[in-house]
Amino acid sequence: MSIEKQTVLIVDDDVNSRKMLREQLKSMAKIILAKNGIQAIELAKQHLPTLILLDVMMPIMNGFSVLEQLKQSEETQHINVIFITALDSHVDEAYGLKLGACDYIHKPYHYEIVNARVSTHLELAKQRKLLEDLAHYDSLTMIPNRRFMEEHLTVERAKAVLSKQPICIALVDVDFFKSYNDNYGHRAGDIVLKKVARHIKHTLNRESDFVCRYGGEEFCIILPNTEISIAKDILETCRLEVQNLAIEHNFSEIFPVITVSIGACVITPKDEDSLESIFVKADDCLYQSKKSGRNQVTMQSFDTHEEINACQALPEL
Ligand code: GH3
Ligand code: MG
Ligand code: MG
Repeated sequence: MSIEKQTVLIVDDDVNSRKMLREQLKSMAKIILAKNGIQAIELAKQHLPTLILLDVMMPIMNGFSVLEQLKQSEETQHINVIFITALDSHVDEAYGLKLGACDYIHKPYHYEIVNARVSTHLELAKQRKLLEDLAHYDSLTMIPNRRFMEEHLTVERAKAVLSKQPICIALVDVDFFKSYNDNYGHRAGDIVLKKVARHIKHTLNRESDFVCRYGGEEFCIILPNTEISIAKDILETCRLEVQNLAIEHNFSEIFPVITVSIGACVITPKDEDSLESIFVKADDCLYQSKKSGRNQVTMQSFDTHEEINACQALPEL
């Protein structure tokens, strides 16, 4: 989770108005400028600013039409817009607000009023972003939660369908974790989950790779554009890295440290393949890993029907 510097787009056909507002607001946010409605829409799509200060009376396309267009596009419909305009009748103001503007400022304006309102809307946007982030992250491990993963996977699946590239979905489950909790306590168990989450996250070093807390002591890894052999190497590294953390677990039936079992499915998805069916396969593979002795990776390819069970010879206890 990160709070990046916010961006404000100022749209006005009058160069002096644009520059004056920029000087006024530059300490609060990164400022970009547009001199007409068409440029405003282009820049809004490109930068997705937090806030747009939009003049109404402009040649070619007026501010009301700009807002209407922004509202029609999924990418830009959530951007907050404040009209700053010399149109000061209540009819115009009501019209602008009904179109979805979050505020309406009359010209000539007092700079303190503009600063205060912009500052309020930037703060509100910051709070909204924080709430959205909280809804997407797991509060214990601070990695994405299942809900975030489902949104992410829907996008990745659609990309994989288009590009005809394989995607790997893996389930990772901590071995004998109930007995860890029972013997070392729930708080110690929480610390293990945090360490395992952080470690898996750091092991996945490609930008596109993703890990979330799937629930309880299970994690889910998504590796887009990844063939089964490469996925196997990555997941094998994850498994080994967890083992190498060397977190004592004297009550594990297989090995005196915390280990994980992994089940994964690789698929080049077609429209008809549901996410559920992919997860069922990954879960079957996880079950195989557990049944075959735990601390191992089992994978299955939907495309080639190849199966890999990377059984680990356990070092002597
Ligand atoms: P297996 O090797 O077959 O996976 O055995 P297991 O003991 O890991 O599996 P089981 O499903 O029996 O137990 C999972 C345990 O994970 C039980 C539950 O208390 C613990 N657990 C789930 N979520 C949390 C959590 O947030 N914190 C802690 N400390 N423990 C958790
Ligand atoms: Mg489990
Ligand atoms: Mg478990």
